[in-house]
Amino acid sequence: MITMHCFSKPQVVPCRQATYYVRRPAGGQVHRSHQRQRRSAFACCALASPTSDLCALVIGSGFAGMSAAARLTRDFAQVTLLDRDHFTDTVTKEESDDPELWRQHYEAETRRRLGVTQYKQPHVLLQKGLELIEEICPGYKQELAQAGALDVDLLSDIIVYDWDKEWLPGVHSNGTRSLAASRHLYETVLRKFVLRINNLKVQTSAAVIGLAYNAEEQRVTGVHLKGGQMLDADLVVDASGKQSDVSKWLEQLGHKPPSTMTVEAGLQYTCRMYEMPEDPDRKWSIAVCIDNPEYNRAAVMVPIETNKWQLYLAGYKGYHCPTDEEGFLQFAKDLPSPTIYEAIRHAKPVSDISAYRNTGNFRRLFEKTPPPNGLCVVGDAVCCFNPIHGQGMTVGLMGSQLLAKCIGEQLKGTAGSDRQHQLAALTGLPAKFHSQLGGLVDYPWTVSVGPDAQKPNAVMNMPQTEANAFSVLLIKYFVALQQARFDDLYLMKKLTQVGNMLAPPTVLFGPDVVMRLLWYVLRNKLKFGLSKENTYGTTAVGPAAAATATSNGFRR
Ligand SMILES: Cc1cc2nc3c(=O)[nH]c(=O)nc-3n(C[C@H](O)[C@H](O)[C@H](O)COP(=O)(O)OP(=O)(O)OC[C@H]3O[C@@H](n4cnc5c(N)ncnc54)[C@H](O)[C@@H]3O)c2cc1C
Repeated sequence: MITMHCFSKPQVVPCRQATYYVRRPAGGQVHRSHQRQRRSAFACCALASPTSDLCALVIGSGFAGMSAAARLTRDFAQVTLLDRDHFTDTVTKEESDDPELWRQHYEAETRRRLGVTQYKQPHVLLQKGLELIEEICPGYKQELAQAGALDVDLLSDIIVYDWDKEWLPGVHSNGTRSLAASRHLYETVLRKFVLRINNLKVQTSAAVIGLAYNAEEQRVTGVHLKGGQMLDADLVVDASGKQSDVSKWLEQLGHKPPSTMTVEAGLQYTCRMYEMPEDPDRKWSIAVCIDNPEYNRAAVMVPIETNKWQLYLAGYKGYHCPTDEEGFLQFAKDLPSPTIYEAIRHAKPVSDISAYRNTGNFRRLFEKTPPPNGLCVVGDAVCCFNPIHGQGMTVGLMGSQLLAKCIGEQLKGTAGSDRQHQLAALTGLPAKFHSQLGGLVDYPWTVSVGPDAQKPNAVMNMPQTEANAFSVLLIKYFVALQQARFDDLYLMKKLTQVGNMLAPPTVLFGPDVVMRLLWYVLRNKLKFGLSKENTYGTTAVGPAAAATATSNGFRR
C-alpha cells in the first residue's frame, strides 16, 4: 500500500549565491543570449505562448513565489526570484541513508529558514497542488518520490476519525492521491526544477525592504533591498508570505493599503517527529482525528521521507496540547480514537516536542483596493488560512497559475512589438488579477473561517455579515455532509475531491449531493453513538461501540 521509493543518486544543483539580477540593456532590448535562454526555458517548462522583452521580480521563494516565477518565464524575458533567506540544497545520499545525518541536515535547514516560521510543521500537499507543480515542472512527482516522498491514496491509505466514526483504510479509493513528504523536501525538490530554468535567476540573502515607484506613472518600478541595492522591474510580484510588509510598503508610497480581515481561533500545533517500527498490521499511512465544532482538538500523523512520521496534536484556545513529555502523551491518549496513541506508544521520538501558534486566518482585500500598476501579490501575502485544512500551498499555486493566465491575456498580440507597448499592455493587470483572485480564495477562506469564527474564544476583525448569516448556514451544511459521508460512499468521494481542490465546491450543492444528504437526514442518522458497522469501510467508535474486527480486517 505504501510505496517506499529508494533514493536515486542525488543530482545536486548548487543554489546560486551571487547577485544574478540582469539589468535591462539601454534601449530596452534584451540581449540575444537572453532570447536564447528564453527559448530553452520554454522547452524546460513545456509552455508555449507569447513572449515579451519585459523583466519581472518575484519577492519570496516559497511555493507561491517559485511557481509564479516559473510561470512568468513564459512571458517575461528575465525573471528574478529574491529571498531573504539563504538555502543549501536537498539532502545528499549520505544524509538520506544515515538517520542521524538526515536529522542534522533537517534541523539545520529548518533553523536557517527564518523567512518561513512554519517550515518545520507538518505539511500535506493536496493532489491539486501536486498537479499544478507537475504542470510547470514535468517530472517533479517522480523526482519527489525518488527523494523519498511516499505515494498515498487519500481514501484507501487513510484512517479518519470524525463524529464518533472511523473511516477505515484499505477498502475504497477514488484515485485521489498525493505524495507525503516534509515541507523541506517538497520545497527543495521544487527549487531544483526552478533553478534549471534558464531565464530565471535566484538571488538569496536578498531581503526586500520597500518598493520603487514612479509617481508620475503611478507604477511600481522595482524594489529596494536591505543593504541599499535597488533592482528595477516591469512587474513586481510579492510572494513573501504571511510576514509580507506589502501594506506598509504601499503606505510608504502614499498608496492606500488594502483593508484586512482576521479570524484568530487560537489554534496551537504541538508537534513531534517519530520513527515507527515496521508493522504489517498497520493498514494506514495517514491517521487523522478531525476537529468538529464541539471537540476543539485534532490530530494528524503523516509519513515523510526516510521512514519518519510527523505528528501534530492541535488544540484551540483552552484546549492546547502541553509540550512536556507526559502531557503530550496524555493528550494523544485522550483522543477519541486510540489509533495515534497506539502508534506512537511503540515509536521512537526523533525530535523535541515543539509548539506553533501563528495559525490565524488573515486576508488582504486587494480585490477591493488593488495594488498600483506594476505590482501583484500572491500566496499567503494575500490570504492565509487555518492550516488544519491543508489549503495554503495549493491556493498559492492556484493564485500563481491565475496570475500567469491574466498576464498571458494582457500581453496577447504584443509579441514582437516594442517594450513600451508591451509594458503599456500590462496596465490594469493588478485590478484584473486581484478581482479574480478574490473569487478564487473565497471558498477556501469560507471553509477555514466559518468554523473558526464559531469558536468561543475567536478574535475577529471582519464584517459581522461575513462572520454570521452566510457562514453559519454553510457550516451547518458542511457538518451535515461530513457526518453523512461516513454512511454514503458517494458523498465521501465528492468531499475528498473537493477537499483536494480537484472539483469546484459548487459540486457539493448539486442536486445529486443535496438529495443524498436529505435522504441521510430523513433516515435520522444525525446523532452520535451509531453502533452499527456499515458496508462502506467505516465503523462506529462512539461510546456505544465495542472494539470490533471489521470487514477489511482492521482491528481497534
Ligand atoms: C503550522 C502550519 C501548517 C501548515 N500546513 C499546511 C499543509 O499541510 N498544507 C498546505 O498546503 N499548507 C499548509 N500551511 C500553509 C503553508 O505553509 C503556506 O500557505 C505556504 O507556505 C504559503 O506559501 P507562500 O509561498 O505564499 O509563502 P511562504 O512559504 O511563507 O514563503 C515566503 C517566502 O518569502 C521570503 N520572504 C519573506 N519576506 C521577504 C522579504 N522581505 N524579502 C525577500 N524574501 C522574503 C521567505 O523567506 C519565504 O521564502 C501550513 C501553515 C502553518 C502555519
